[in-house]
Amino acid sequence: MATDTLTKPVIDGSIPKTKVFKNFIDGEWVESACGQTFEDRNPADTREVVATFQRSNKEDVDAAVDAAKAAFAKWRLVPAPRRAEMVFRAAEILIDRKEDHARDMTREMGKVLAETRGDVQEAIDAAYYNAGEGRRLFGPTVPSELPNKFAMAVRQPIGVCGMITPWNFPMAISSWKLLPAVVCGNTCVIKPAQDTPLSTFNLVRALTDAGIPKGVINVVTGYGPEAGTPLLEHTAVRAISFTGSSAVGKIIGTTSAKTFKHCSLELGGKNPMIVLDDANLELAIEGGLWGAFGTTGQRCTATSRIIVQKGVYRKFIDQFVARAKKIKVGNGLDETVEMGPAVNENQLKTDLKYIEIGKDEGAKMVTGGNRLDKGDYQHGWFLEPTVFIDVDPKMRIAQEEIFGPVVSIIPCDDLEDAIAIANGIEYGLSSSLYTKDVNKAFSAVRDLEAGITYINAPTIGAEVHLPFGGTKATGNGHREGGIGAIDFYTEWKSVYVDYSDKLQKAQIDRAE
Ligand code: NAD
Repeated sequence: MATDTLTKPVIDGSIPKTKVFKNFIDGEWVESACGQTFEDRNPADTREVVATFQRSNKEDVDAAVDAAKAAFAKWRLVPAPRRAEMVFRAAEILIDRKEDHARDMTREMGKVLAETRGDVQEAIDAAYYNAGEGRRLFGPTVPSELPNKFAMAVRQPIGVCGMITPWNFPMAISSWKLLPAVVCGNTCVIKPAQDTPLSTFNLVRALTDAGIPKGVINVVTGYGPEAGTPLLEHTAVRAISFTGSSAVGKIIGTTSAKTFKHCSLELGGKNPMIVLDDANLELAIEGGLWGAFGTTGQRCTATSRIIVQKGVYRKFIDQFVARAKKIKVGNGLDETVEMGPAVNENQLKTDLKYIEIGKDEGAKMVTGGNRLDKGDYQHGWFLEPTVFIDVDPKMRIAQEEIFGPVVSIIPCDDLEDAIAIANGIEYGLSSSLYTKDVNKAFSAVRDLEAGITYINAPTIGAEVHLPFGGTKATGNGHREGGIGAIDFYTEWKSVYVDYSDKLQKAQIDRAE
């Protein structure tokens, strides 16, 4: 594979049109140690190679970690407000480049332009939010139990942070990790998903153009076991932030534990949307369609189960299915298209496998189920929006994450029954309830086992300044977004200053 064209950071705001990307280590563009590359193809038309990336291994990761370690010595001492100003500038740069980056993203992973614009916007929002945090990074100052003694806690950076990301929000998720990390004074090595490195490079380019010094952010591309594992095992990496499947998350968690790394896991979901008899049905149908088929169902927060109370069950299904049939599937670069392809052949195969499982389990498939591969669809990984009804909550299609445009509709008796069904899964990411009854709404907020609950909105639509993440098999208790990320990327140091000029013994010297 030719690797003669380089993509370099640009300072004039133009986007290089070159197609071969090298690893970005210590501010330099370098080939992988093994000299191999891999292709990133457009899932809507696999004849198009969007770009070629380095297939990296331990040697490349080691070089990136060395660079990050060296850069940390200086970066940690740059005042946080100054670090944050660079992140603020990156937001302004991203605004200028938003359309180009959205188009790159649609080409590399298929979601429609309106959504890829939203993905870039999320990185912009995260940049503004985290830039603001640079002037806060609050810690507690508390009264001491002893006289003439001062007590406070300050946030300190952790050191080198490793990041491993999925492909479905390729710029947004990279931004959730990189931006708080650098504002807090850490340095980073990121390994983006092999389907979507371009969007991570676009973000990193904005950050370097905004003044983030060399070595602070390093990008190493490649496959999980080859390029991800060395990051998990490296003793100089002090924190790992991973977003991806629960199966891989388990490996990440156990491997990171061996070297006592901080480890944040944001994993899968099987998100329920409950529709009660008193709901605004039109609103619930619109929300359900957006939640189930937005991003081709490839969101960790996708509405993959819709639990509908019996009084409106048939009416909901009739209207929901009629609307699902009309969704326009196609190449996301066409502004009239509502749903793009699956990200790759494997994901399409998984979707089709679960459709067969659903049929075998006895769920009723009322629309969809077929791969689209004729005419304009012939070179892509397209699937019809698929709806199963009368699904038993214990069926595999109602329990396991499919990550495709396949939704299960489940009948329920009342709110209590709905919540039991909603909670009866291993995951706990997002959840939603449609009702006009405020008492039911607040009961659901209290009782749904999930990191996020929406009322009168589908299970998708998180904003960057609130904690994002889930319970149970969706994670290990950390949160991205908002102050949760600042908590993850800092360590507390408690500071006691005794100005009494004598030895004072805590818990022992008590004036009775
Ligand atoms: P994935 O788990 O297959 O891969 C995620 C990343 O891990 C990729 O970069 C991959 O290269 C890397 N990886 C794979 N095996 C590895 C290993 N052994 N060691 C180190 N790294 C390894 O997930 P995906 O297909 O990219 O993304 C889809 C999944 O991500 C879904 O389960 C979805 O729910 C989840 N997701 C979760 C959130 C969240 O915030 N909770 C957000 C988006 C996606």
